[in-house]
Amino acid sequence: MYNFSAGPAMLPAPVLKKVQSELLNWNNQGVSVMEMSHRDAVYVQMTETAEQDVRDLMAIPDNYAVLFMHGGGRGQFSAVPQNIASADATVDYLNTGIWSEFAIREAKKYTAHVNVLDVMTEQDGLKQVREQAAWSLSENAAYVHYCPNETVDGIAIHDIPKVSAPLVADMSSVILSEPLDVSKFGVIYAGAQKNIGPSGLALVIIRKDLLETQQNTVCTVMNYKVQAAEHSMYNTPNTFAWYLAGEVFKWIKAEGGVEAMASLNTRKSELLYECVDNSSFYRNTIHPKNRSKMNVPFQLENPELDSLFLQQAKAEGLLALKGHRFVGGMRASMYNAMPYEGAKALVDFMTRFAKENT
Ligand code: PMP
Repeated sequence: MYNFSAGPAMLPAPVLKKVQSELLNWNNQGVSVMEMSHRDAVYVQMTETAEQDVRDLMAIPDNYAVLFMHGGGRGQFSAVPQNIASADATVDYLNTGIWSEFAIREAKKYTAHVNVLDVMTEQDGLKQVREQAAWSLSENAAYVHYCPNETVDGIAIHDIPKVSAPLVADMSSVILSEPLDVSKFGVIYAGAQKNIGPSGLALVIIRKDLLETQQNTVCTVMNYKVQAAEHSMYNTPNTFAWYLAGEVFKWIKAEGGVEAMASLNTRKSELLYECVDNSSFYRNTIHPKNRSKMNVPFQLENPELDSLFLQQAKAEGLLALKGHRFVGGMRASMYNAMPYEGAKALVDFMTRFAKENT
């Protein structure tokens, strides 16, 4: 089976096997990792290793805190404005798709002036992000928020925007998929269920000077300063998700780090886009410069064949290819855990399906 789910998404098989083997007796403790105190020295040591591993993988500078937070990606949509802007602040939000829009909706609850930058445009039927010179950024923004990889729309901004205000990025569907210069960001956050581990957990990487700016009404569990001081254990963390994330970090390291992930992700996505581009049976409507490597949406020219496509794909072990309910069509999500063979199996199936149905 190859699982193309957008999230919760496939996890590396060796990680799942290891977790299975130690489920009843973790680390020679005689109990599962879910059955012991998060304050136990053995558990705390595991969390420290997990943090160090993600710091190594992403080359996170020392002046950044790493938090393991509750509430997934959307939890951070409300945590960000409350933690790093005042209630009367102006904040800039790039709007590149569905997840940007949800983030904007939340920000409007907590900050007075949300400047929405409609940066999408369409040329020759291809959606693309306008060049930065055409964005109307505010002069006094507390931060600039963007989503470098729109999971539903399959739109990516590959170059880091150059802005003077702290840059905040929702990296839920792209984190750890390629090398990144963390020092260009004020805050990076990501729901875990794509490239990190189980859903519900969120990773937050924040420049330490931004820990001093929170609104005093922010819920304590979502307070970055409190969570940084408490090593993300202000309340009981999701101990299982944190442990599993730590195992995924170890796996990425063993596979050769984010450089190896980047080269694998490029090869997989190029194979699939090439198949779509070379066919009059399938289509993708995003300009190549803004195509996502993680989430590849594509449509069948004849949508009446959609259900047959999905049915036959599933019968061949190619799962979860249905596009998001907001956009329809198909979507293949290929995060780090998807092997090259999965992309190859999908492309072989698509080529055959097109031939049989033309
Ligand atoms: N941001 C992005 C880019 C996402 O893809 C998702 C989930 N697919 C979210 C935020 C929301 O994450 P969660 O469901 O964990 O709140």
